[in-house]
Amino acid sequence: MNRYETLYDVMVLGAGFAGMAATLFAAERGLRVAQTGATGGIDFSTGFLDLMAVHPVSEGRVWDDPWAAVEAVTQAVPHHPYARIPRERIRAAIDDFTAFLAGQKLPYMGYDDRNACILTPAGTVKRTYRVPQTAWKGTLALRDKAPTLLVDFHGLKGYSARQIQEVQGPRWPHLKTLRVEFPGSMGELYPEHMAWTLSSPERCAELAASVKEHARDVEYIGFPAVLGLNDPLRTVTMLEEMTGKHVFEIPTLPPSITGPRLRATFDRGLAPRGVCTFSQKLVLGAERDSEGIFTFHVGTGQETRTVRARNAILASGRFFGKGLRADRASIHEPVFAIPVTQPQQRAQWHRTDFFDPRGHAVSMAGIETDAAQRPLGADGTVLHENLYAAGAILAHHDWTRMKCGAGIAIATAYNAVEALTGRL
Ligand SMILES: Cc1cc2nc3c(=O)[nH]c(=O)nc-3n(C[C@H](O)[C@H](O)[C@H](O)COP(=O)(O)OP(=O)(O)OC[C@H]3O[C@@H](n4cnc5c(N)ncnc54)[C@H](O)[C@@H]3O)c2cc1C
Repeated sequence: MNRYETLYDVMVLGAGFAGMAATLFAAERGLRVAQTGATGGIDFSTGFLDLMAVHPVSEGRVWDDPWAAVEAVTQAVPHHPYARIPRERIRAAIDDFTAFLAGQKLPYMGYDDRNACILTPAGTVKRTYRVPQTAWKGTLALRDKAPTLLVDFHGLKGYSARQIQEVQGPRWPHLKTLRVEFPGSMGELYPEHMAWTLSSPERCAELAASVKEHARDVEYIGFPAVLGLNDPLRTVTMLEEMTGKHVFEIPTLPPSITGPRLRATFDRGLAPRGVCTFSQKLVLGAERDSEGIFTFHVGTGQETRTVRARNAILASGRFFGKGLRADRASIHEPVFAIPVTQPQQRAQWHRTDFFDPRGHAVSMAGIETDAAQRPLGADGTVLHENLYAAGAILAHHDWTRMKCGAGIAIATAYNAVEALTGRL
C-alpha cells in the first residue's frame, strides 16, 4: 500500500515545535502517523526550550522558578493552556522530548526547578528552561562572570562579540573579544556553510590555532552557534581538547543554525519510527465522513493528493505558521473553520504603542479546547471527538512575552496524544 492509500491513525498538521512533538509522542506510542507542514517557528528558534519566564507581562516580572510561574499564570489566566495540564504531565512531556533529542546527538541541559540565565546575540540575558548542551557552559560562565573570550568572524553578519561585551561589560569585566578569519573562507559567511565546515577536525584545528594564543588568560571561549550541524557536541568537544578551555555557543540572530539543527534532528529521528512525512506540504482542505474518518487534501496548491486518517492533531501555529488567517474584519482558522477567540473589532487587536508592556489583544487570540485538547465549536461543545489541537494556535497565551513558546507546544502536544491514545 503506498503512502497515499494508507489509513493513518493520526494526521499531524504542522511541523513546528508542536507538530514535531505530537508526531514524536504519537509514533512512540506505536501509532501510524502522517505529518504535513512547511517551515515553522522551530526553524527560526534559538534552540532554547522556554517553559515559563515572564508573568504578568504588563509588569515584565521575570521568574527564576518556571513552575512557580506556571502556577501563577494559571491562577491569573484560568484558560491559559497550562491550566488544563497536570504539572507532572508537563514535566514528562519535556523529559520525553529532550530524551529523544539526546538520543539523536542533540542533548539538552538545565535545572530541575530553575530557569537558566543565558546570553542572547544582542548581549542581553534571557531565562529559559532547557538549553542545548553546546550552549550550557555559557550559562556557567555568565553565572560566575568567569574570564571569557567571545569570538566572532570577519564576514559573519548579524553577530558581534563586541556588542555582547558592550552590553555585559559593566557587570562582567573579565569578558574580552576577538575577531578572526573563518578557516578556509574569505568574504561573506553563512552559518549553515560554517557549521558544515566545522564538522571537519582539520578546520576545527585551524580555528583553535587562531584563537588559542588569545585565550591564555580565560577559562571559557564563546563562539557564535556555527559549531557543526549534525553532531555539534562533537565539534565543541574537539575545540575544547584543542584549546584546553571550556567552549560554548551563543545563537546568532534568527535564522540561526540552531533551528535547522532541530529540524534535521527530527528528520533523522522520525523516519525510523515509521512516520510518513509530507514535507513542505500543507493541508488545503479537510472532510470528515459519517464514521469520523478524515480525508485531507495535501499539497502545495498546484498539485494536491488525498491522505486519510482516523484522528487529527492541529498544530498549525498562529499567523507566523499560517494556522490562523486575518482579513480586514476578523481572524479565522482555515482548515476546519474552528471558531477563534479574538477581540470583537479589529481596532482592538493592537494597542497604540507597539512596545506597550501589556502586549496586544491579538497575541492572545486562538482556539478553545476541552481538557483533552479537543477544539470547541461555537456552542462551546467539542467539535469532533477525534480532532485535537496543540501549540501556538491555542488561545489565552502570549508566548513571545511570557517566554513559554516551546513549553506550551510540547506540553499540549503531549496532552493531546495522551488523550488520543486513551480514547483509542
Ligand atoms: C524567530 C523565533 C524564535 C523563537 N525562539 C524560541 C526559543 O528560543 N524558545 C522557545 O521556546 N520558543 C521560541 N520560539 C517560539 C516557538 O517557535 C513557538 O512557540 C512555536 O513555534 C509554536 O509552535 P507551533 O508548532 O505551535 O507553531 P509554528 O511554529 O508556527 O508551526 C506551525 C506549523 O504548522 C504548519 N501549518 C500551517 N498551516 C498548515 C496546514 N494547513 N496544513 C499543514 N501544516 C500547516 C506550518 O507550516 C508550520 O510547520 C521562537 C519563534 C520564532 C518565530
